Amino acid sequence: MKKLNSIFKFNLTSFVSFVAIMLMLSGCTLEWEMGDPPGSGNASRMNSDRLRVIFLDVGQGASQLLISPSGKTMLIDAGNNDREQAMLDYLREYGVTRLDIVIGTHPDADHIGGLDRVIDHIDVGEIYMPKIQANTKTFESLLLSIKNKGLKVKTAKAGLVLEWDEDVEVTMVGPVKASDDRNNMSAVVKVVYGNTSYLLTGDAERASEKDMLESGADLRADVLLIGHHGSKSSTTLSFLKKVAPQYGVIQVGDNNYGHPTPTVLERLRKQGVEVYRNDLHGTVEIASDGHTYLITTER
Ligand SMILES: [Zn+2]
Repeated sequence: MKKLNSIFKFNLTSFVSFVAIMLMLSGCTLEWEMGDPPGSGNASRMNSDRLRVIFLDVGQGASQLLISPSGKTMLIDAGNNDREQAMLDYLREYGVTRLDIVIGTHPDADHIGGLDRVIDHIDVGEIYMPKIQANTKTFESLLLSIKNKGLKVKTAKAGLVLEWDEDVEVTMVGPVKASDDRNNMSAVVKVVYGNTSYLLTGDAERASEKDMLESGADLRADVLLIGHHGSKSSTTLSFLKKVAPQYGVIQVGDNNYGHPTPTVLERLRKQGVEVYRNDLHGTVEIASDGHTYLITTER
């Protein structure tokens, strides 16, 4: 399948060529509809319907915005407390007025810091979080926003199938086991659209990766959110080989943790993974039409 994936890469300055490609594609669709070749109905629909997975640049932290082919929305994490306004600005920029699903992968500030304000301001359908608490103001503030909104938290855990868009499969493959380690309690989400796939790992570390491997879940994915901002505690070789991604995204900004670590970068290089990073590329979007990926970077 990998070899069939063609890739269009461009930055914002290539917007003109993007428009040209879109015009060509819509031209093809029209032709197919008029000529009515056998079996083209689904393909022409696929060409216009795209799953967008946007790795928002929130500095040192993580946030992924997903927009489905039919316009459903999902937000996984929302960066740190100082990114609250930036999160609201992003949502406005992408035209998001409602979040059908919100997932707080685990209760660390660099993931849930911005979630309280998002929930205060945006209509939310469902919210998922793992069964672990943090004794912090950030976590308490999130719980308060959830309560004020009248939402009930659903437990994020392996085996869940999330109803989101009928053409997109969304499942949780982690956390497999209860742990008192917040990172290893991270909700790990797998998203499949047609022949394309994404694995979004939160800050899951080697213990969680081992549990996921042992669970027998299908971990294969073309796009991998590199665990824990590229820390050496994550992305073990056995996990990486099982996922066998073509693209890796590291959500990282200025930090004193040494993220991403040279060990992980070297491991990714050796496995032939093409790496995108928020600190180098700004916001990274990897969209899919079900067959091919369209990668857009802010810089
Ligand atoms: Zn983190």
